[in-house]
Amino acid sequence: MGQSVEIKDVWKSFGGFDAVRSATVKIQAGEFLSLLGPSGSGKSTLLMMVAGFLQPTSGKILIGDEDVTAVPANRRGIGMVFQKYALFPHMTVFENIAFPLKMRKLRRSEIESRVGQALDLVKLRDLGSRLPIQLSGGQQQRVAVARALVFEPPVLLMDEPLGALDKKLREEMQFEIKNLQQSLGVTMVYVTHDQEEALTMSDRVAVMNHGEMQQIADPKTLYREPGSPFVADFVGKMN
Ligand code: ADP
Ligand code: MG
Repeated sequence: MGQSVEIKDVWKSFGGFDAVRSATVKIQAGEFLSLLGPSGSGKSTLLMMVAGFLQPTSGKILIGDEDVTAVPANRRGIGMVFQKYALFPHMTVFENIAFPLKMRKLRRSEIESRVGQALDLVKLRDLGSRLPIQLSGGQQQRVAVARALVFEPPVLLMDEPLGALDKKLREEMQFEIKNLQQSLGVTMVYVTHDQEEALTMSDRVAVMNHGEMQQIADPKTLYREPGSPFVADFVGKMN
């Protein structure tokens, strides 16, 4: 079900400042790739360009074989979860998850069965009629994940989705997100500044610093053969 995502020599400047410099990576269909780096390294800017909310200054973005560089966000068919991408506060859990399906004008019976499945997937079967404010932080984040997955996107983008949660819940959700990603076969681009999170969840990690991808490798290689002092230092922080 996943589709590949190709980022080809993508640059983004804001008034002469290069926030992303020549980012290049091909993420395979069904792969889990993390963008890992300190605050300000260009992770969110790059993810926003993949999402279609920001236009690259130069370079190309492909989903599958299609060049989507000029395709608007709502036509890219990508699911997204952000730390601060709040749920609609006036809508129930059910309505929040149904929203992307209503936008796509699915039939009511189809919407009900899909939302039911999505609620099962994130283990919130009985909470469909609650409002977001009546949920814990972890449950709210699960609803956000269900809403991103409900239309079965081939690609899922997450920007620090667990940043607001405490450590125990974060570890639980890491495991759940990884399981969901694998069982659905969706291609994941996952942003985090937490090296432990990136190393445990990812097939490959792209380490970013000052807008550049310094190294792209699987977790073992990153840890054993860091390609630069920065990578060694940043990845090595876990012990
Ligand atoms: P990260 O997500 O890794 O913390 P960002 O992608 O948010 O980093 O930001 C990378 C750099 O680009 C930062 O220096 C940030 O201040 C700058 N930046 C991001 N968005 C804008 C913008 N809209 N205008 C000007 N500078 C920006
Ligand atoms: Mg960011």
